[in-house]
Amino acid sequence: MNVLITGGAGFIGSHLAERCLKEGWTVAVVDDLSTGSFTNIQHLKGNANFSYTIDTIFHAPMIAELVDCCDIVFHLAAAVGVKLIVDSPVRTIETNVHGTEVVLRAVAKKLKRIIIASTSEVYGKSSQVPFHEDDDLVMGPTTKGRWSYACSKALDEFLGLAYHREKGVPVTVVRLFNTVGPRQTGRYGMVLPNFVARALQNEPMTVFGDGRQSRCFGYVGDAVEALVRIAKSADVTGEVLNIGNDREISIGALAELVKQRTGSSSEIVYLPYDQAYGPGFEDMFRRVPCLEKLQRLIGYRPCTPLEDIIDAVAADMREHPASH
Ligand code: UDP
Repeated sequence: MNVLITGGAGFIGSHLAERCLKEGWTVAVVDDLSTGSFTNIQHLKGNANFSYTIDTIFHAPMIAELVDCCDIVFHLAAAVGVKLIVDSPVRTIETNVHGTEVVLRAVAKKLKRIIIASTSEVYGKSSQVPFHEDDDLVMGPTTKGRWSYACSKALDEFLGLAYHREKGVPVTVVRLFNTVGPRQTGRYGMVLPNFVARALQNEPMTVFGDGRQSRCFGYVGDAVEALVRIAKSADVTGEVLNIGNDREISIGALAELVKQRTGSSSEIVYLPYDQAYGPGFEDMFRRVPCLEKLQRLIGYRPCTPLEDIIDAVAADMREHPASH
């Protein structure tokens, strides 16, 4: 199989590229290196089945050519990370909405399969956990910048599903919950790489809010396994699927666990949300995926324990201290 991965030099994209190459597939990557990094894919350069293009997905003729040469597209290119979204909302909205439009148009012309990466953010501030794929999405007001990310990705989902219904394009939407693992940078605000980096330096770990808010952290290796199985499955077009781990942990408890696993002497400090993200920031209190549909359709459920994930992230940071 020939696959195209948009955002393939990013954290999840580069792990996916590796996993697809292991499958014996030919992998083409396109990435503008805005949040991705060449170091994420450098080790794949020697592989005869691997190629890459450094360019933006806004460049329609280039995307059309790459889509032409592939059987399936994993569309992962997006503006990600709460910090980036709060700091650069224009870029977030334009990248997520226009970029997906360009890719979908090219895919529709050739009726190629596409798996669109969406996010658990689309569930918004719903408190009805666990989140099922057909649940209502509960967004905050447009005056609060955070919601632009969720809305832009929800629009991607609408567009993808519309291409499926109206034009018969084989589209699958996946909602990735908090995905973590080696190579993830803390630069865009993600909590786990930040905590581990701080812990390894014995510097304070900063918990935003009171630390009672919770998340479920899924291992990137499990997420890409799910993506590959979805690519191999014929019964998932027109579907929306959650991908994540359903073990829930509060952010306060996560800080304690990171401290314990790394043997760190870091202090755990608490910072009010408005000081962390600016005034009026709204966080989600809980976010838990329902994984029944994923398990039913592809026979797989992510399960790597959080302790193992933290150990893997810490080992990677010890080995490559400069890249985080
Ligand atoms: N968070 C934190 N300290 C940090 C970064 C994030 O306490 O250094 C909190 C953040 O407020 C949120 C949770 O950790 O409640 C997860 O944040 P992240 O940005 O990793 O992902 P999100 O689930 O918010 O997209």
